[in-house]
Amino acid sequence: MVAHSSFDAIAEKVRAGEPLSRADGVFLYADAPFHAVGKLAHELRTARNGDRAYYVVKRYLNTTNVCYAACKFCSFAAHEKEPRAARMSLETILEKACAPPDDYDELHIVGGHDPKQTSLAFWIPAIRELHARIPHVQLALFTAAEIDYMCKRERCSYEDGLRRLRDAGLTSLNGGGAEILVKRVRDIICPHKASVEEWLEVHRVAHRLGIMTNCTMLYGHVETIEERVEHLVALRELQAETGGFKCFVPLAFHPDGNDLSEYGWTGGIDDLRTIAVSRLMLHNIDHIKAYWISYGIKMAQLGLHFGADDIDGTVHNEQQIYRDAGSTTDQSTPILELRRAIEEAGFASTRRNLLYRVLEPA
Ligand code: SF4
Repeated sequence: MVAHSSFDAIAEKVRAGEPLSRADGVFLYADAPFHAVGKLAHELRTARNGDRAYYVVKRYLNTTNVCYAACKFCSFAAHEKEPRAARMSLETILEKACAPPDDYDELHIVGGHDPKQTSLAFWIPAIRELHARIPHVQLALFTAAEIDYMCKRERCSYEDGLRRLRDAGLTSLNGGGAEILVKRVRDIICPHKASVEEWLEVHRVAHRLGIMTNCTMLYGHVETIEERVEHLVALRELQAETGGFKCFVPLAFHPDGNDLSEYGWTGGIDDLRTIAVSRLMLHNIDHIKAYWISYGIKMAQLGLHFGADDIDGTVHNEQQIYRDAGSTTDQSTPILELRRAIEEAGFASTRRNLLYRVLEPA
């Protein structure tokens, strides 16, 4: 792809609310001055969200790491007989989800493709039970890849599977499993899980059923800049069709303990530029997250100046996926510290729920 873009022409399109082209995206990544890209993303973020920076009070559970999909970037999955395999029983999930203090707003659950747990038969009664015991908590459950796995095992359509999960109490799907939505990349890093078309179709059907979803991009491994841009365009096109994505979360690749460790850690400049380019390319998605569990709180503060308007949140946290991949961030940072970090960065800390309804401060 040859970039025929100029920064001024891109800025004009951004201010007019027009979608940027693939060439614009590549130019912003590869050629445009770093600070100018950040400034333009900040302008758009401010026009969209004012001086708000959102956080959420949530609990995070990885309920099983048993998985045979063998994604090359994954440091989390284990085979059943490995000592590090960990599968929670329904009782443990309920106990952890309902343990005091349970005055949180979102329960976020992600796991492996576990033949014994990742099924509609396990989760539909589990969701009903969660909904009954903690009705004030919104349930953000599963990635599109997990939904694809469950529906294939059940031999049902995405529509049927998602409708049953929604009727049991599922509020939203998580954005993971997207990695890079380009076949060449998936063939290398995750050939055994949902394809590009399948991942997008799960979200399309979810949106049609009134289930909102988030979306992600795992960057910093085998992909090219052009493929990152292709990924962003695929998300933007689905959003133009359905309007069902609430938030985009760029996820930096972490190299410890997996088969892609040769690619190393992403740099801070790449992280910030990726937030900014995402903000500018995804003009039709309202929220961009600087996921502090991935970057650390200091980078997340900077991300708020490069186009992000959300830093996630997470107290009472058991997020294991990034920890297995080498993350050393303190994952139990109290909410007051997150609010202080947002305010120090110059923004109004704003507690939200899963659907971005503003809540009273914690
Ligand atoms: S990324 Fe998910 S699907 Fe892939 S191996 Fe890890 S747990 Fe399994």
